[in-house]
Amino acid sequence: MKDNIYINYGKNPIKMTNDLMEKAKVSKYLKSDMKVIIKPNLVLPSSTKNGATTHSEIVEGIIKYLQTQNITDISIAEGAWVGEKTTTEAFKVCGYTDLSKRYDINLIDTKKEETIDYEIENIRFRVSKIFQETDYLINVPVLKGHCQTKLTNCLKNLKGCIPDKDKRYYHNIGLHKPIALLNTLLKPDLHIIDSICGDLTFEEGGNPIESNRILLGYDGLLLDSYCSRLIAYNPEEIEYITYSAKYNVGKLFDEHTKIIELNKSNKDNKDFIKSELAKELERYVDENSACSPCYAGLIFALNKAENNPKDSLNNNNEKNNNENEKNNNKIRIGQGFKGQTNDEDLGIGDCCKNFSKYVKGCPPSGLDILNYLNSFEFD
Ligand code: SF4
Repeated sequence: MKDNIYINYGKNPIKMTNDLMEKAKVSKYLKSDMKVIIKPNLVLPSSTKNGATTHSEIVEGIIKYLQTQNITDISIAEGAWVGEKTTTEAFKVCGYTDLSKRYDINLIDTKKEETIDYEIENIRFRVSKIFQETDYLINVPVLKGHCQTKLTNCLKNLKGCIPDKDKRYYHNIGLHKPIALLNTLLKPDLHIIDSICGDLTFEEGGNPIESNRILLGYDGLLLDSYCSRLIAYNPEEIEYITYSAKYNVGKLFDEHTKIIELNKSNKDNKDFIKSELAKELERYVDENSACSPCYAGLIFALNKAENNPKDSLNNNNEKNNNENEKNNNKIRIGQGFKGQTNDEDLGIGDCCKNFSKYVKGCPPSGLDILNYLNSFEFD
């Protein structure tokens, strides 16, 4: 069970989180007298809608679940990006100040906490003492792109547990190795991933891609190596994943990993919001009632595609518009294509299984879509 990955789809984060925790039988590992810390990603004071920060509703779902287990010693701890007041502001803007009042929960700014010093491979680590003193640590990152490390998710979210000075220091010496080593010092007991609308490329948000999905697992490396695929990265491309495997932080995702999906029919979220960058990339796509996680995988893949179907399709569109003819070689996605046959276009997902060329999956991962795009000869 601890090697499984659980995914829930939908638009009710409180219930989705509770259902995931029940399905994964989290209560087996809890005791009522435990001291529990929840660590979200509040990198900056920015609304969760922008794709950078953890939805407070997920943390609310966790608190409710913990309270049903009669756990009362619950804290939310975070150290936002560099700056004296950023954490307090982020707590406020992202709904955590209100949440803490409603549930009588402590809010801890890790920047103000005492640290414990370590040194591994000549790298200095100072970790907030509270994390070492807790009985149960729940990591609640946002699955999103990152301008330097490509992916930010479970493993990188622990950077919020160290002082500002060390955040700068890690950036200077290259982030990957310190992130992996930090995960040998701090080992969350549980990870619940906010994949509701993580950003396409940037940890500070701005181009959120709606996926309406929450994931749960017990192994941060397993989850990161799985989730990198969802946003169109091969895990080998993410250096800190390779380092983490070397330092035995956890297991890597492979074909034996069991994926347990809840509410599969809730993937169908037709009225999802599309960011400006997504709209730009979508110009070359024919979308008809696509589910949000499927569409998100395609947008992540299009943003990274080497063959640049964008240019090819753009040329076709211009040509075809001029000639008032049917467009050729489009990328088609969505339930509107169920049952349709097509020998010209590339279909995305099992809804297009009657196309002669389509990417399998429901939804397919961003990496599967990317690999197909890169091998597809666009006319
Ligand atoms: S393949 Fe079809 S049903 Fe499945 S996620 Fe994609 S659009 Fe939705």
